[in-house]
Amino acid sequence: MPSTPQIRPEHVNKGLENPPVSRRTVLKAGATLLLSVVAPIRAYAAQILAVRVWPAEDYTRVTLENDAALKATHFIVKDPERMVVDIEGLELNPTLKSLVAKIQSNDPYIKQVRVGQNRPNVVRLVFDLKEEVTPQVFTLAPVGNYKHRLIFDLYPVKPVDPIAAMIEKRNWSGDDKAPPSDAEALANAPQAQLDALKPDTRAEPRAELRNELKTAEAQTRASERTDKGAGKKGKLIRMLTVVLDPGHGGEDPGASGKNGSREKDIVLAIAKRLKDKIEEFPNMRVMLTRDGDYFVPLGTRVDKARKVQADLFVSIHADAFVQPTARGSSVFVLSEKGASSAAARWLADKENLADTIGGVNVRPQDRQLASVLLDLSTTAQINDSLRLGKSVLGEIGGINRLHKGAVEQAGFAVLKAPDIPSILIETAFISNPEEEAKLLDDGYQNQLADAIVKGIRRYFAKNPPLAKNRLT
Ligand SMILES: [Zn+2]
Repeated sequence: MPSTPQIRPEHVNKGLENPPVSRRTVLKAGATLLLSVVAPIRAYAAQILAVRVWPAEDYTRVTLENDAALKATHFIVKDPERMVVDIEGLELNPTLKSLVAKIQSNDPYIKQVRVGQNRPNVVRLVFDLKEEVTPQVFTLAPVGNYKHRLIFDLYPVKPVDPIAAMIEKRNWSGDDKAPPSDAEALANAPQAQLDALKPDTRAEPRAELRNELKTAEAQTRASERTDKGAGKKGKLIRMLTVVLDPGHGGEDPGASGKNGSREKDIVLAIAKRLKDKIEEFPNMRVMLTRDGDYFVPLGTRVDKARKVQADLFVSIHADAFVQPTARGSSVFVLSEKGASSAAARWLADKENLADTIGGVNVRPQDRQLASVLLDLSTTAQINDSLRLGKSVLGEIGGINRLHKGAVEQAGFAVLKAPDIPSILIETAFISNPEEEAKLLDDGYQNQLADAIVKGIRRYFAKNPPLAKNRLT
């Protein structure tokens, strides 16, 4: 959806001529309205510090990192499809020019970018597009190692459907029935969750869900009839869908090791290994929430899992701590009433920062949605997740030291699918040089993946997914 750039006028500085090295201090002290009124017209030129491009099927992101917040306006031009962006208070520099060479020929949405000084004070970027896009243009305040960021997210007009994407990549194999709809997902939700949806418990957003629920009930009755018919013909093998969620990605590197390895790369490698191993079983299929180096907001990860009606959600991370001696693997699940330890709460807070570092354009309606999702979290989900967590932790204990002997609980945003057992695995401490080496080692990655598969299989054996038992 097109969005208005969030602009901080106090950073649109005028009248500061070639500020010295301590520019930021000068800005803070001198960027006053008074200065801009009395100073000559010549504008202060913000500097682009870095440009980054994260191409992906979901969306392509272009980031301009700057020493001050930038004011940008954008518009779409048709035939051929282009997005034009004018950035005020900016002078063309070699870093910005390097953007041109950073667009890859296989970028799904951007053909090329042209950069030029449009007016003395305005730089114009023209994105030549491969197809019609829905842009989101927004700014992010400095956070972590980042200064100000101006973000261009180019989404396809029709959002990528996770099931369609899996089918295209031949990953939706051995299907037992038509891909589930959101409504069906709701229909298969635990009773406690359905109770939570009953009328008059909450206001607005629930009304929509209630309608969905009605449709869901009707659809379930219809699909039950179909299933009975199919059952007579022969035994149906119930496909189990596991969603693997490699943490971080793109702008959000996650934790990093002494030797420069990044959490986002390691966890993607482990997730891909795990995917291959799980898919060796004929009744299991896997969807990755990301299969490349780009950022996926935490809520989107949950949405993706719900869209494919996942039976399990497994988020994969690598831990970090200030003391390099900290070590061991851990498994976390959601908590309803506070974290199981101060360390668990600290970790959840840190992981939940991903959206701030990775960068999302938070709109009020998203916040509302997030709170509805939170309300739907049920004891049933947490109990299932604890069972899954124990099973996986037990297996990991066979190949690595455990940081703590039990599954821990805290408010991880990514574990909040109300109807999907969800765990977060901290595979080892990337901040511990010895464990960093392990995490990079093929042998260890294989052992770890084997252990997780065993844990998942053991969980499924003991807890066959309830709503669909009739199909097995
Ligand atoms: Zn992480």
